[in-house]
Amino acid sequence: MSETTAPVTQTPAVVTPTDTTVGNYFVSNYPPFSFWKQEETAVVQKTLENAPKPNTPLGVYLHIPFCRKRCHFCYFRVYTDKDSTAIKAYIDAALKELDIYSQKPVIKGRKASFVYFGGGTPSYLSVDQLKQLTDGMKQRIPWDEAEEVTFECEPGTLTEHKLKALREIGVTRLSLGIENFDDHILEINGRAHRSKEVFRSFNYARELGFPQINVDLISGMVEETESNWKINIQKTIELSPDSVTIYQMEIPYNTTIYKEMKAAGKLVAPVADWETKRGWVKYAFEELEKAGYSISSAYTAVKNKEKTKFIYRDKLWAGADLLGLGVASFGHLQGTHFQNLHDFEPYLLALTENKLPIYRGLTPSNDERLIREFVLQLKLGQVSAEYFTKKFGINPLERFATPLRTIHDWGFGGVDGDRIFLNRDGLLQVDRLLHEFFLPEHRNARYA
Ligand code: SF4
Repeated sequence: MSETTAPVTQTPAVVTPTDTTVGNYFVSNYPPFSFWKQEETAVVQKTLENAPKPNTPLGVYLHIPFCRKRCHFCYFRVYTDKDSTAIKAYIDAALKELDIYSQKPVIKGRKASFVYFGGGTPSYLSVDQLKQLTDGMKQRIPWDEAEEVTFECEPGTLTEHKLKALREIGVTRLSLGIENFDDHILEINGRAHRSKEVFRSFNYARELGFPQINVDLISGMVEETESNWKINIQKTIELSPDSVTIYQMEIPYNTTIYKEMKAAGKLVAPVADWETKRGWVKYAFEELEKAGYSISSAYTAVKNKEKTKFIYRDKLWAGADLLGLGVASFGHLQGTHFQNLHDFEPYLLALTENKLPIYRGLTPSNDERLIREFVLQLKLGQVSAEYFTKKFGINPLERFATPLRTIHDWGFGGVDGDRIFLNRDGLLQVDRLLHEFFLPEHRNARYA
């Protein structure tokens, strides 16, 4: 080794427990996706051949994987380069997928209780594409009894014409991905829209009388500051949406932000730390409460809690069936989890060959199903012990005695008779706390 190549002594990077480092924070299912296996797809196929348990609600989720630009914090399966021919092929494939399912005993003859278009950017589709898609979906699984039809939108893709079409199609909740009102912050985080488009689309949507307009915000985007965050909340309150959903910025492995961190040898993401992000959500919740909103989950405030419901969330968290359609979609039928192939071409190819594009699955044990429902419902801030005892034959006060004591000792919640609850500080970090309820092998496992 020559003198010029002698190693330079580097100060080790210091990471504090509250720093935002790489990884999934948000717990959206259980057991973690990394435990779902390709070998289990035969079990999923078998599940499809059995009639469903009576009275299980059925939801339909369709992933629309197209976006104008890829946001730097995005970890979803999205494409920014697909032309109208590719989009048409995708719509045809999704309808074929639904066709195959609608003939299976587990689905045959059922109607949708709720429908959800997620992405990606569902509002990226043109009016003609939307009509072809939704007419085809309704022919295969009727929506006439659906309590809720949710449609995620990127404000810059909405025109009055498209909003009118969405209203005619039967969308009941429009979810606007605003994320931030500051154009510079939107720009450096890779968002395609600008704040002018937010106000324009929101006002059109209001005039058209959508039953529920939801606004999504993210606490802790790159370059977010306290003063800007306060302006975001003030502008949100001025818009007066029916509900507000706020996520704390996480940096999963497949984001542009993480790729840049990795290239620069950084362990800490260039966003606010968790304590700051939680503080911002706490502030937002308090301001929204002052403006008359109620907090309905760890992420959501609603203006009128009698009228504004989140059927998709509540039914899914209580064990409803979910038919997940589209590339990389997740579903849950009669207690079995499954996920679709996560690349565009293989997804299309499977359907061209009349095969369901299922990639991996998992059938959780009764105990794992209990954990799943318990942790998901705890995101609402409180659960009833009796509900779980009746449904699973296991008393959660006994099954979860250790984690409940831990959470109590940390000062984040407790038990009051039948009610197991988190206080506001606990609710604001619920996804971190939920790992305490997991089986040891799933705790802090890589999520995806
Ligand atoms: S709009 Fe949503 S899905 Fe599309 S790139 Fe941005 S975060 Fe991802």
